[in-house]
Amino acid sequence: RQAFFRSDLSLLLERVGSGKESLSFMRRRMRRLAAQWAAAARRLDERLRGHHREQKRILVHVGFLTEESGDVFSPKVLKGGPLGEMVQWADILTTLHVLGHNLKISLSVKELQGSLGVPPGRGSCPLIGPLPFDLIYTDYHGLQQMKQHMGLSFRQCHIRVIDTFGTEPAYNNEEYATVNGYRTNWGYWNLNCKQYMTMFPHTPDNSFMGFVTEELNQTERLMIQRDKVNNMAVVYGKEASMWKGKEKLLSILHRYMDIHGTVYYEAQRPPEVPAFVRNHGLLPQQELQQLLRKAKLFLGFGFPYEGPAPLEAIANGCVFLQPKFSPPRSSLNHEFFRGKPTSREVSSQHPYTEQYIGKPHVITVDFNNSQEFETAVQDILKDKVEPFIPSEYTCEGMLERVNAYIQHQDFCRRSSPFPTANDSRSWSGNPPSPFLQLPNSTALIWAPNITAPACWPPLSALRLFLSPEDSSCVKTCQDAGLICEPAFFPFINNIEAFNGLNAQCESLEAEKNHVFPAVHVDRRECFQQKEPLLFSCAGVSAKHQRLCPCRDYIHGQVALCRDCL
Ligand code: UDP
Repeated sequence: RQAFFRSDLSLLLERVGSGKESLSFMRRRMRRLAAQWAAAARRLDERLRGHHREQKRILVHVGFLTEESGDVFSPKVLKGGPLGEMVQWADILTTLHVLGHNLKISLSVKELQGSLGVPPGRGSCPLIGPLPFDLIYTDYHGLQQMKQHMGLSFRQCHIRVIDTFGTEPAYNNEEYATVNGYRTNWGYWNLNCKQYMTMFPHTPDNSFMGFVTEELNQTERLMIQRDKVNNMAVVYGKEASMWKGKEKLLSILHRYMDIHGTVYYEAQRPPEVPAFVRNHGLLPQQELQQLLRKAKLFLGFGFPYEGPAPLEAIANGCVFLQPKFSPPRSSLNHEFFRGKPTSREVSSQHPYTEQYIGKPHVITVDFNNSQEFETAVQDILKDKVEPFIPSEYTCEGMLERVNAYIQHQDFCRRSSPFPTANDSRSWSGNPPSPFLQLPNSTALIWAPNITAPACWPPLSALRLFLSPEDSSCVKTCQDAGLICEPAFFPFINNIEAFNGLNAQCESLEAEKNHVFPAVHVDRRECFQQKEPLLFSCAGVSAKHQRLCPCRDYIHGQVALCRDCL
């Protein structure tokens, strides 16, 4: 069945229901952004005319909001607790609804069982009959509940896990994680890592889901130009604890600007917030937007990490000033990230804005250096900055991306890669190499005269590189102005790829290691990947040069290549 865009959200609002502060927050957000979603749907519909879009049966089980997982979030909605997850789930639900799919929402284990046709009962009860959904969006809590209550008896290829910070392949493969010290409380589900969907495009090993930022119309843009107060700053931090130990920075900033805060408080002003700060208390999202429209500077104190608020500030014409982390923080050296299934290095409070947006909208400096901080504030006062939203964080961008995932990502079908180690040995004669050198480059491309196996993204986008030692494929592709594409790994895990890249292999073996396929730098031993779940863009080794499958991406829509739509 064909899916048709929907511009009316009333059915969705009804399904989301209320009764909990978290749900009311999501409904308010959906209502406020309704016109923006409808306009985006019209534009995308126009652009996709002629494409068939299959309507899918989708179950959304929001695990972290279920009573069974303890629902620690709902009671904190009005008290400065994390709202980023709520923002993202509201936008995911709206995206799926607007794209015209057949949506079912579950917010308790009982509803989950009901939706899957499992009789509620004691212990784990397997699903009887075929899965009544094409796709299930959930989170790590939901995954755990499915395992506990129905033994995950259906094929897991239908599942998508909303996973804020991301999960890297080394942590996802149970056996490998256990043997090699990558075992955490969260990872080891043996999914295809693209089934994990993140809040920002952290590692291309996962799919980037994202959320949306409120857009401005022409009148609002003009109003911003007129009403901006050049010496007004808003501090990023809903909770008083985020302000702890920041007196010095605040007093420097106060020499230049009036400082506003939106810190939650009960009876008295929190002692962490100095008297010269105008604290508005926690604001409804809409009022926060108004405040950001007037302000010139949005100041991050280092926590929370990677939330939506900096994008909202930049969208409203603020400059985001944030601390650089040196050394970078990660699960290996920092309490907050410990136990998260990723080794990703976080270089500042908000690496996405640092790397993908940058100056003049984002200034990242060492906050331990007061002089550097003060100079940044002075520069910000002088600069004139326009509101900005990366296209991937607009409604149209999110609809386009999620639509592409829904129509093209298929983790149930096993891809049949071009010659694997075993195939090529059993071939008689020399199989033709599927790779060609790209003119004026060290990269290889898929040879146009050899039929490319079915793959999404299409293999025409492949650019194959040999990484320098001690460099991940994330970095290697980035340095070439491209992005690593893990879906291509199965097609480059072969002797033809090593030969094409002139790796000069003395030997070739297949092993389980999350940096393979790779060449050992001293011994010229070449290694293929034996476990497809371990193909990893993020993996890095000082002793190896890795084979890196890269692809192009659309500017402002990093999840998609030019030929991906
Ligand atoms: N927010 C709000 N009122 C405030 C401060 C923040 O509604 O006074 C909203 C803000 O619009 C953003 C959301 O809280 O969309 C999440 O903000 P943050 O970046 O702090 O991320 P979190 O740590 O909450 O996930």
